Amino acid sequence: MKKLIIVTGIIMLASCATVRQPVLPAEDNSARAVINKTVAEAADDQDHLILATLWYQKSAEMRALYYQCFRNAEIALAENLAWTGRTKPAAVAIDIDETLLDNSPFQGWQVFEAKEFNNDDWLRWVELARARPLPGAVEFTRYADSLGVEVFYVSNRTVQEMGPTIKNMAALGFANADSTHMLLKETTSSKVERRALIEKDYEIILLVGDNLADISGVYEKRGSDLGMGSVDADRRLFGTKYIVLPNPMYGSWLSELLKTAPGSTEREKLVRLLETF
Ligand SMILES: [Mg+2]
Repeated sequence: MKKLIIVTGIIMLASCATVRQPVLPAEDNSARAVINKTVAEAADDQDHLILATLWYQKSAEMRALYYQCFRNAEIALAENLAWTGRTKPAAVAIDIDETLLDNSPFQGWQVFEAKEFNNDDWLRWVELARARPLPGAVEFTRYADSLGVEVFYVSNRTVQEMGPTIKNMAALGFANADSTHMLLKETTSSKVERRALIEKDYEIILLVGDNLADISGVYEKRGSDLGMGSVDADRRLFGTKYIVLPNPMYGSWLSELLKTAPGSTEREKLVRLLETF
């Protein structure tokens, strides 16, 4: 009987070891040591992230959408550049996370660890400088650069994260992966002032991001209609001046939604928000 218990225990441990693949702490033994929850427990806490993260990582549709958006971005960029009425050199303003760099392994790690987003864990991920490029992203920045369009990165990564961000992006071959082209977050998440800084010397002819706030200050306060009315009003700008990429994992769309939702847990709020027949 004792033998049976030991053998069963070994099998259980082995099965846990094979299914747990936390990406973030791969070179961090102290972080590995704190992995003490079963997959089921972890998934229970952050299960709202599973499907969105899997779609992002495993669906060919996601890959096709990124190619589609960046191809559309190239066409729009060339068309906008051909306009001769500009008084300043042309620039593009591009977000980084979930626009150019894929941080979905961090999302997956959150599910495994049953941890909500926090800045310390995020910083550890950023410092690994291991994020992969999103489909078509590197090529788009190089294409813009080849046309003589100044590529600026406007991101809410913090200025403290500048070093590893440049290291990560330069190694992947992104154009202008340097501190003069990276406008990171100092005090405010709003990107309006940073875009205005660019516009002192350049005309921004295209904006690219996975969050509507990456492209216009109008979307920073979405209001009770969740920004739908503003999107309708701007409909002719999408695909011509604004390029929006899909991010079902997180973003202002979700934080705005959760702000006023009834319910005590995030899961409860999300379920209550669903429209049903
Ligand atoms: Mg982003």
